[in-house]
Amino acid sequence: MIPILDYHLHTKLCGHAQGEPSEYIHHAIKIGLKEIGFSDHAPLVSHNDPTLTMNFSQLPEYHKMIEDVRKTYEEDIQVKIGIEADFIPGYENDTKAILENYPYDYVIGSVHYVNDWAFDHPHQIQQWKQKNVNDVYRNYYRLLRESANSGLFDIMAHVDLVKKFGHRPSDDLSDVVRKTAEIFKKSGVAIEINTSGLRKPVKEIYPSLKDLKIYCQSGIPCTFGSDAHLPEQVGWEFKQAVELALAAGYSEYVVFKNRKIEKTMPLSI
Ligand code: ZN
Ligand code: FE
Ligand code: FE
Ligand code: ZN
Repeated sequence: MIPILDYHLHTKLCGHAQGEPSEYIHHAIKIGLKEIGFSDHAPLVSHNDPTLTMNFSQLPEYHKMIEDVRKTYEEDIQVKIGIEADFIPGYENDTKAILENYPYDYVIGSVHYVNDWAFDHPHQIQQWKQKNVNDVYRNYYRLLRESANSGLFDIMAHVDLVKKFGHRPSDDLSDVVRKTAEIFKKSGVAIEINTSGLRKPVKEIYPSLKDLKIYCQSGIPCTFGSDAHLPEQVGWEFKQAVELALAAGYSEYVVFKNRKIEKTMPLSI
């Protein structure tokens, strides 16, 4: 069985996703999901980039758009409203202000930048050549810990996104991941099992089985997201996501409402 939900869906407001929310919903219903949550990219607090995120003035439109489909499809599927916000050190208060301005069911926290470098952006891939991969990974995990510690987020997104293009550390970073899991536990965040990595050069779910086992052993709740930027990507490869979760030791996943875990659901194949 696939999970009942997909919590990581984008909208065209971010400038690099396509389709209407109703089309995402139709696909979700078609594959048997009972619940979905939109989580488009929140306005960047450091700078504006209409190809990456919506801007501040589009937030009301985002909320209205989701509220409209929520009502329209009330009988067919539960629609929740989330948002994916970047963690940018030094801008915590600006991020907080955005997130407090609207009621969300959950906020997904993302690390897409290491020292101002968008390490997962295809246009900035050349910069990997000048980097020490071990250092990039260590910095990435440090930022994940800082994000969780910031208290801004409920769910940490794609928690090994740094592997996206296939760069691998030569050091064994298990201790770094364990330290990260400890901080996640203390700060009370959940993680998502995000299948978008399967569509990227690395061809792997985020996070890897090895990391997911550590998060499971540390008692970090998990949930699921396809990171869909197209309607047909809703629930993408979720069967594989469930298999990974079970292999890592998880027996349940969590459902969010009003920025709290509402309930847990059993996982099964
Ligand atoms: Zn995106
Ligand atoms: Fe992301
Ligand atoms: Fe996303
Ligand atoms: Zn994402």
